[in-house]
Amino acid sequence: MPKMRAAQITRPGGPFELVERDIPQPGPGWVRIKVQACGICHSDSLVKEGHWPGLKFPRVPGHEVVGVIDAIGAGVTQWKPGQRVGVGWHGGHCGHCNACLAGDFFGCTVDLKVTGISFDGGYADYLVAPAIAVALVPEELPPVEAAPLMCAGITTYNALRNSSARPGELVAILGLGGLGHLGVQYAVKMGYKTVAIARGADKGPLAKKLGAIAYIDSQDSDPAAELQKLGGAKVILATVTAGDAMSAVQGGLGLNGTLVVVGAAQSMQVSPLGLIMGRRSVKGWYSGTAIDSQETLAFSALTGVRSMNEIYPLEKVAEAYARMESGKARFRVVLTTGN
Ligand SMILES: [Zn+2]
Ligand SMILES: [Zn+2]
Repeated sequence: MPKMRAAQITRPGGPFELVERDIPQPGPGWVRIKVQACGICHSDSLVKEGHWPGLKFPRVPGHEVVGVIDAIGAGVTQWKPGQRVGVGWHGGHCGHCNACLAGDFFGCTVDLKVTGISFDGGYADYLVAPAIAVALVPEELPPVEAAPLMCAGITTYNALRNSSARPGELVAILGLGGLGHLGVQYAVKMGYKTVAIARGADKGPLAKKLGAIAYIDSQDSDPAAELQKLGGAKVILATVTAGDAMSAVQGGLGLNGTLVVVGAAQSMQVSPLGLIMGRRSVKGWYSGTAIDSQETLAFSALTGVRSMNEIYPLEKVAEAYARMESGKARFRVVLTTGN
């Protein structure tokens, strides 16, 4: 049996173990991908800390995977070896439950899969994934550039393009980290009047460089009042994981404005009167499925939206993960395999 490297977690809170495993075989309807790069996402802590209900160990995390298809399982007709592809958070669905029949694959009630949680992910030389969860990667995007777009990218791009904001309208991006620095770029390229909100004056120049028309330092001023001075936001995309920061910006929504939440905060406060009087809303957005990933990648290749990354080899997975956890990475951490 040919072998490969994989970085696995064997118990909640346990360390990464770099182990040698048999290269997996794709079953019917699955493909095998030779991994080139895999981004490290904060959600990988669900595996590292064992917080995902029913998670089975050992588990290899990683849902920002980019590589090359090198084997296909029985019945797979849409992919062939040699194609460059990616896999994101959405790892598959049944295709026949009521949610799936309605096209709401994210709500599948029978067989919803998450990459790196329901099956082993991309912190390895190879992974196998359901063929329906795989997205084509455009030639212009090298593996390291494409990988973070498979979660951080799709999450912000897909939330914005499905929002009620139209080109020219005021859109605010709350947070300027891994998700936020992509969110600002997507909002700018979609033609929104884009405002970035984060803590500290030091992030202002970056926000401007990414194309924002204004930067609001939430430590120095009231972000809701500042947004109202600009006319009120049609959409605020909340990429942070702090509920109090989300609560603090909702007053910056204009009439019919929507706070779109993609950061998994524990809780947040909402003002019912604010919702009622301005017919405002708060909603969440699920990252997306394979076609959304594919369109995220295509839009990024077309418009030049790129993630800024710190790159580590797979052997340094512990160091790379700690760097992500520190919150100091500028801005996404990506593992490379050398494949
Ligand atoms: Zn993620
Ligand atoms: Zn289903």
